[in-house]
Amino acid sequence: MRLQGKVAIVTGGGSGIGQGIAKRLGCEGARVIIDYVGSEAGADDTRRAIEACGSQGEVVQADVTKMDDDRKLVDTAWDRFGSADILVNNAGMEKRSDFWDTPEDEYDKVMAVNLRGPFFLTQAFVRRLREAQKPGRIVNISSVHEDMAFPGFTTYCCSKGGLRMMMRNLAVELGPLGITVNNIAPGAIATPINKALLEDKPKLNALLKNIPLGRLGTPEDVAGMVAFLASDDASYISGATFLVDGGLMRSYHEQ
Ligand code: NAP
Repeated sequence: MRLQGKVAIVTGGGSGIGQGIAKRLGCEGARVIIDYVGSEAGADDTRRAIEACGSQGEVVQADVTKMDDDRKLVDTAWDRFGSADILVNNAGMEKRSDFWDTPEDEYDKVMAVNLRGPFFLTQAFVRRLREAQKPGRIVNISSVHEDMAFPGFTTYCCSKGGLRMMMRNLAVELGPLGITVNNIAPGAIATPINKALLEDKPKLNALLKNIPLGRLGTPEDVAGMVAFLASDDASYISGATFLVDGGLMRSYHEQ
């Protein structure tokens, strides 16, 4: 129970990696604000799992691209649980388009969810921490594609590359406030975002050959790293990206 007494906000807590993170933080003792947009049933499942561990969860519908919703998430943490200590910017999306065909609305949407959302939600979180003169932990779920090229997904790579620089900048700017900021870069994790890949056996098998540990990751693999970064054991860690990718980023094969 490394997070007893702490309060965490997790975006996209009704499915995939965010659900795994919210459950893990809850079972480490944190009370959790579980954000969702469309996955209400999933968010309720997350809350029930946290309650089964003996902690508390509060489900909140909030679209991270809307500043009013960002403030609502932070305010709900303070109103319901008295404060917030940990913010996990997990919500994200991807769209596949060749660069030359990428429409403006697709660019705007991916950037809004993956970069603008974390920017203004983090701002709302930091403002409350500053007022209360409290330290805090910020963990962004980025991607190996904050570094690694992904043809056909330039909008996604731009958003995650931006999230990497946001994290580095904020580690410097928020350090004096006692707030740490880190990214987790998952590789290929079995979640709904990868539905097309999971259903394409030849493509999936080719990918698995590039993963030294020989399997896809799970939400729990990512959640363990979040629990560590949110814990006292990580109090001197800020400004870093942590790969959770089964070795994918270091993998190279002669043909
Ligand atoms: P997922 O199951 O599709 O989850 C995406 C989550 O984002 C959903 O919970 C969704 O909420 C939420 N979301 C989307 N738009 C939102 C908005 N405007 N406001 C609030 N929440 C919003 O996929 P996932 O794999 O767990 O993805 C989670 C994060 O991990 C993303 O940032 C993704 O880029 C990153 N990631 C995933 C992988 C992978 O292989 N799976 C690899 C690297 C990085 P609703 O369901 O409620 O709509």
